[in-house]
Amino acid sequence: MKDCEVPKKWLHSIKNHVYWSAISSESGLEKVAKGNSLQNHIQNVHVHDNHLFPKCEHPDKVSRDPKKWFQPGSIALHKVEKLLYNKRVLKDIEKLSHHFQTSSLEAFHSLILRFAPKNVTFPFIGMLCRLYLAAMHYNENANREQATTTEGQAVYKFKKGECTAKPVKIEPTYNYVDDLMSLLIHKVFVDPKPYAEELHAIPIPPSLSSQYEKPSKEEVIAHRVSRFSRGVAGTQHTVPLDQETVGGSG
Ligand SMILES: [Zn+2]
Repeated sequence: MKDCEVPKKWLHSIKNHVYWSAISSESGLEKVAKGNSLQNHIQNVHVHDNHLFPKCEHPDKVSRDPKKWFQPGSIALHKVEKLLYNKRVLKDIEKLSHHFQTSSLEAFHSLILRFAPKNVTFPFIGMLCRLYLAAMHYNENANREQATTTEGQAVYKFKKGECTAKPVKIEPTYNYVDDLMSLLIHKVFVDPKPYAEELHAIPIPPSLSSQYEKPSKEEVIAHRVSRFSRGVAGTQHTVPLDQETVGGSG
């Protein structure tokens, strides 16, 4: 099990690296070159014998902790290499699409959670509006460039406990908010009718909870009263647990 400690810490970085190899490259061979560089990088070697990707792009300062890196000749390293660098995986990396990767889908999902937190229940139209806002924010900001220092150096963020250097993006912009405000003030306030009509034309599905048959209040009370009287009468009637919770909510 101790052999797994190093690979476990690297799992997230390896996944990110594959995505990054795909979206940051212009050719299949460049993707493979970047994919291969990982083999060196995890052993604390950051220059590579490939003109398409001769050197890691992260800052030169890396962890000095020898436990972080894979040791040359170790079983762990051998296993990771066998897994990542067989012909089939390399062919797959070469063919990875750089236009659309699940990492950007994941980014969109986490953005939705920021606009519509899961612990709050929104009415249908409210939720729809929040999804639209999330989509507008995403479309405006998804391909932000990486931030640079005043000296022009790319900025990375390091996550504690993981060997990941995440590129820090430039600040997001909110031009879609200005556009919406301008629409609201110059068009909607001036003539709200067509906008109201369009809003009312959106079909609102019935809420999920209304699809369940709910016992009436009288039924729940009657059930409780009969159970109570049975208990008072002393009959040893065991009430199943699921009945105890009937009508507990709503
Ligand atoms: Zn490196």
